[in-house]
Parts: sequence; C-alpha cells; structure tokens
Amino acid sequence: MFEVVIGLEVHVQLNTKTKLFCSCATSFNHKQNTNTCPTCLALPGALPVLNKEVLQKAVMLGTAIGATVNKTSYFDRKSYFYPDSPTAYQITQFYTPVIQNGNLEIDFEDGSKKTIRVGFAHIEADAGKNIHEGDRSKVDLNRAGTPLLEIVTQPDMRSAEEAILYLKKLHSIIRYLDIGDANMQEGSFRVDVNVSIRPKGDEKLYTRVEVKNINSFKFIEKAIEVEVRRQSEAWEDGVYDDEISQETRLYDQEKNETRSMRGKEEAADYRYFPEPDLLKAVISDEMFEKYSQIPELPDAKRDRFVKEFKLNEYNAGVITSSVEMAHFFEEMMGEGISGKNATTWLTVELNARMKGDVNITNTPVNAKKLGSLVKRIEDQTVSGKAAKEVLDFLMENEDMSVDETIDKLGLKQVTDMGAIEAICDEIIAANAEKVEQLKAGKDKLFGFFVGQVMKASKGSASPQAVNEILKVKLG
Ligand code: ADP
Ligand code: MG
Ligand code: ZN
Repeated sequence: MFEVVIGLEVHVQLNTKTKLFCSCATSFNHKQNTNTCPTCLALPGALPVLNKEVLQKAVMLGTAIGATVNKTSYFDRKSYFYPDSPTAYQITQFYTPVIQNGNLEIDFEDGSKKTIRVGFAHIEADAGKNIHEGDRSKVDLNRAGTPLLEIVTQPDMRSAEEAILYLKKLHSIIRYLDIGDANMQEGSFRVDVNVSIRPKGDEKLYTRVEVKNINSFKFIEKAIEVEVRRQSEAWEDGVYDDEISQETRLYDQEKNETRSMRGKEEAADYRYFPEPDLLKAVISDEMFEKYSQIPELPDAKRDRFVKEFKLNEYNAGVITSSVEMAHFFEEMMGEGISGKNATTWLTVELNARMKGDVNITNTPVNAKKLGSLVKRIEDQTVSGKAAKEVLDFLMENEDMSVDETIDKLGLKQVTDMGAIEAICDEIIAANAEKVEQLKAGKDKLFGFFVGQVMKASKGSASPQAVNEILKVKLG
C-alpha cells in the first residue's frame, strides 16, 4: 500500500497600502496599468526601496506560527522571463528568508491533532497579469510588485484531508491577523500542491509533482485525489519511472484530471543571486516588540468560547473558523444572552437568511440586533416562533429595531397569567362536551385546548403558561 506525501506552498498577497518596492497603490480594480511607476515597470535607473509594512506583517505571521523571525534577511533575484514580469526576474528571498521553522496545528474531527512544520516563509514581489482576448494578449501591470509572503511547509501531510485542514487553518490565521484578504477566487491566497507517493514504511521521498494555482478548497482536494490515483496506478502498472517525473501540472476542473504544464525548473535554472539594488531587510527591536503583539488566534478563541460561553467544541470551531463570525458572535454575547441560543440564532437562523451578496459583514441584522432579539426570547417578550418572524422582517427593514418590530407586528407574548387564565376559562366554557370527554380519559383532547387558547390569543400567549394553566383547570 502507498502513503501519500504532500507539501504546500501558499502565496499570500499582503494587504499593504502600497507595493513592495515603490509607492504605487496595491488596489486592483483600477483601470489597467494605472498603478504603475518607473520602479514597478522596471525602467532603467529606477531603484526599489523596501516597504516596511511588509516586514511588520511578516513579524505578525512569524509570531502566530511560533517561528523564528530573522531580524535581518536579504533579497535575491530569481531569473525568469514571462511577459507579465517587466524585470525579467523576480525579487524574492532565497538564501535567508524572513521567517523560518514555524508550526501549525491542525485538528481532526475526532479531536486529535497534528503539527505541520512550516519550513520557511519569504517575501517576494508578484508579477502582473496577462489578459487573453480572442487572438490578442494584453498585459496589465497593476499587480506587478505587489508584496507576497510565500509560506512553505515541510512534506508533512499524508492525505488530502490533512492538506485542506492545514490550508483552512492558515487561511483563518491570515484573516485573524488581517495581513491579507486571502480571497482564493481573486488570487490573494494561491496554493501550489506538491504530491508524491511511496510504499508504506518507506522513509525516502519519491518524485513529486507540483499542481499549481487551484482556486478553491474543494478543487484542491479533488486535484490531490486524482493526482494520487494517477501516480499509484502508474506504480501498479510498472510504468512509474516513465510516467511520473518532477514537473508542474495543471488541474482541469471540468475533466477532473491533471495535465503536464511544463518540466519543473531546478534552482539552478533560476540563477539565483543576491539582489544588488536592495539593502538588507532589518526588523528593529521596536518593530518586533510592537508587531509581535498579535490578536487572539482561532484556536485560542475556540478554547475560550468553550470555557466562557459553554459552547461545545464543534460549534466553537465553526464559529471561530471565520474571524468575522467570531467577532459577530462576541458582539452578540455583549447583550448578556446564553451561548447556546446565540449559536443557534447565528449559525442556523441568520445563516439561513443570508442569501446572494448578503453575508456576515453586511447583513442588515447586525450582531447587536440579533443579540437583542435573542434577549427578547430569553426574557419571554416573544416566543421563538415569533422571533423568526421578527428576524424575517428585520432582514428586509434595516432601519427598524427589534422592539419596534415586535410592536409593529403585534408579536408581544402575553405572559400575564390573569389574561391567559381568562382566555382558558372562555375556551373551557365554550367546549363543555370536550371537557367531559377529556375527563373521561380522552387525553389527546388536551392538545385541542392548548391549540384553541393559542388561537384565541392570536399566538401571543406563552405556550408554557397556557400548558400550566390548562393542566390545573382540566385536572
Ligand atoms: P522548490 O524550491 O523547487 O519549490 P522545495 O524543496 O522548496 O522545492 O519544496 C517545495 C515544496 O514541495 C515544499 O512544500 C516541500 O515540502 C514539498 N516537497 C518536497 N519534496 C516532496 C515530495 N517528495 N513529496 C511531496 N512534497 C514534497
Ligand atoms: Mg517553490
Ligand atoms: Zn510602482
């Protein structure tokens, strides 16, 4: 049997205001080739100057993964020619990266954990974009020179599942630190997957294939699965050495297969050498001190939610996997409600009502509002059923408050025992025959009375109170 070996390289686009080596803006929705200058266009004589914000973000990530942050690191030139790279080389960090030897813990569904080693992470400049239109190709250099952190693991993962758990955890950490948007569709979190197989028990690493730029977790999982199948079939058919070579392959989502893109370059092909136009990158003690104070990370938050708000591990994990959801939840809890109710109303009720472009960051029912709705259920102002109507209404009417809506829709629950008792008496008086039958043992009729009272109160009576009163009156 085979063991799967996976190592991951992730390019994270950093959300700095300006590019890595010039003061051009990093936003991309601008007109093509407008965020450019002599430096990122590589005009002769223009010199790069390092953007310090990039080092600050590197300190944050390094701290988050318990890595060594090199206070002094260096830049190198990686030579290659693509039309979208005006320099014909990429400035990167080959010999001394800014981050080394980190760890990231992944959690399996059964509660067990595994540590994935992050070998290093380095700073590098992104290329521009080629745009193909019919038989013409154009180049947009707005993205050229945007800062990236490339985060590279050791070949520690043994299944597609482990790879996805690692990627989701890393993704979540980037979002918690707010050092990048990490939007896979838009290319600000780009994943290269290195895959090989080996006979179980073998320690040696076999030939790996690199599958590049797959833009969703689901397709990464599929790409790994088909690539593992291709390699193991080649092995079983005795053609492994002929068919599996170190190369870059492309994943085709439609056909669900990988295809050869190009032979994998060796380091020697890139002719790395120290970048002569840049000084060393220095992280001062002050900078390190300041930026290693990072916010609470997903694992710590999950554990705290379990302890402080009495959530179960699973729900706490779901809520803290997204920083936006975690913050939303915490704000809801500010209304002094139970963690369990807050979880249901966030992950079930609100979640089901967010459609299309509506998401947790722009929902018309913000955290405070949803929290106060839950509060109104807990203090018995409305029933859970009525609260769903209130929520429906609020999703369409952003300017209304919870209490205004309860009044407007007349959903206030009657908890006044006297009032409910009066309704019960009326119903009992009007159904004398059924009362007799019930007393004679037709227990099912109890539900009939509850229903009639609820109906007479137009659903506003507290069902709990109705039950209690009827039990006493009907014996
Ligand atoms: P390169 O610099 O050519 O991209 P690296 O040695 O830096 O190569 O490795 C790139 C990635 O490939 C790393 O994540 C590493 O863990 C992974 N890797 C290396 N060898 C293997 C292998 N045999 N199987 C799977 N992954 C591997
Ligand atoms: Mg690489
Ligand atoms: Zn520029």
